[in-house]
Amino acid sequence: MTLSQVDSAPNGWVVRSCRARQACPPDDCFRVEPPAGTVNTRRRSSGRYTGWRLLVEGLTGQRGWSRAWSKATPRPRYRVVIVGGGGHGLATAYYLATEFGIRDVAVLEKGPIGLGNVGRNTTIIRSNYFLPDNIRFYEFSLRLWEGLEQRLNFNAMVSQRGTLNLFHTEAQRDLFTRRANQMRLLGVDAEAVSREAVQALVPLVDLDNGRFPVLGGFLQRRGGTARHDAVAWGYARGASEAGVDIVEHCEVTGIRRGERGVTGVETTLGFIAADTVCLAVAGHSSRLAAMVGLRLPIESHVLQAFVSESVKPLIDVVLTYGAGHFYVSQSDKGGLVFGGGIDGYNTYAQRGTLPMASEVAAAAVTLLPGLARLKVLRQWGGVMDMTMDGSPIISKTPIPGLILNGGWCYGGFKAIPAGGMTTAHLIARGAPHPVAAHLDLNRFAAGRTADERGIGPFPYAH
Ligand code: FAD
Repeated sequence: MTLSQVDSAPNGWVVRSCRARQACPPDDCFRVEPPAGTVNTRRRSSGRYTGWRLLVEGLTGQRGWSRAWSKATPRPRYRVVIVGGGGHGLATAYYLATEFGIRDVAVLEKGPIGLGNVGRNTTIIRSNYFLPDNIRFYEFSLRLWEGLEQRLNFNAMVSQRGTLNLFHTEAQRDLFTRRANQMRLLGVDAEAVSREAVQALVPLVDLDNGRFPVLGGFLQRRGGTARHDAVAWGYARGASEAGVDIVEHCEVTGIRRGERGVTGVETTLGFIAADTVCLAVAGHSSRLAAMVGLRLPIESHVLQAFVSESVKPLIDVVLTYGAGHFYVSQSDKGGLVFGGGIDGYNTYAQRGTLPMASEVAAAAVTLLPGLARLKVLRQWGGVMDMTMDGSPIISKTPIPGLILNGGWCYGGFKAIPAGGMTTAHLIARGAPHPVAAHLDLNRFAAGRTADERGIGPFPYAH
């Protein structure tokens, strides 16, 4: 067989194929070669992380560590291309390779991995949702979180310190009770907590504050926090070791489609062919979908977060305020990490405005007056993919071969393990995972939205 036809590919890679391609087995008539003069370097494992290795490295000058994941140069063709090296893109790649044996996968990230929302959130994980389908999905995620560090052999600092949601009116007590009952019926932990117990858990709370006195709370003890960027690094390491190419600084600028569906993506490193393209770009979902003429029921908004100077241990749960959008936890370094609602206008800018910052500060000092003199060290924003019903989308699209993971609203960090697993299932099996079947895109056209808070198509209120 003479491989006579030579096609150029990204970064100087060469594709050789024979002209009578249909007539012979694919491996005989198709070969991909690295750029001339380069050696296609084999992926080197970063080895198992153990306490013993930490000790030995500490005593021997830390010289034995190698890169946690390989920085790949893209090949011209993959079975699956995932756009977006955030939590969901990396987790999808990891589960595709490790659960479903699909290793011919590339994750394309326009910048360095982990600098999108996965590294910008307030790190809260929980499964205290209201709709039974959503409870099942987020509980599936929480269970995956519970074994994640052992599975990835990576310290993601998962801390099940409890999430405590406060309520301030009798109507809110009823609503929270319904939510807790629904959770318990599905075998998920939820506890009603009295005013006194709230005070004992967080002595700093001003129960009788003049604006919204606290009547009690609901506690999910298995909720808590995880270190956000370690989650991206852990999945990247696992995916890379399983054979996935993680390609940084490779922006997708177009999506090509043929008669039978997607054929690949245009990138700043050239065209990359793929049988399946999965969009996992969070706040940029609408922009990427528009590249193939698809309009999504998603708006992009900015959400801010804040971190204070370090102080001694003050709050050892995740505390949320029921009378507005405010949530706070304390990081292991001692800083209070807190946030509020979205800024309320559509934007792709990763920075917020002062009015929302002052609204968050007002809620903070109403609930916890002792914070009034604390200094805020840093503030940042992330672009949120807000759906019209407040629930995410894990779905095929009208374009064959194009899969969507997006619409994460405020809650996509906690959903990363489940989002990755169920998106990988959808790609590998061609059918939705049972816990994510209600998250299909068609629900908006069919009128069976998963309106978690029952407030209709208003992103600000989700
Ligand atoms: P991202 O990390 O944003 O990944 C998407 C990636 O796609 C980015 O890296 C981006 O660079 C890349 N990309 C975009 N366009 C292209 C392109 N054209 N080509 C290639 N790559 C591209 N959730 C919780 O559960 N708990 C919380 O406490 C919480 N707090 C939050 C606080 C803030 C301030 C913010 C901003 C979000 C918060 N979230 C929280 C939401 C959560 O962080 C997100 O829903 C989730 O991280 C989104 O999924 P992701 O990690 O895949 O997104």
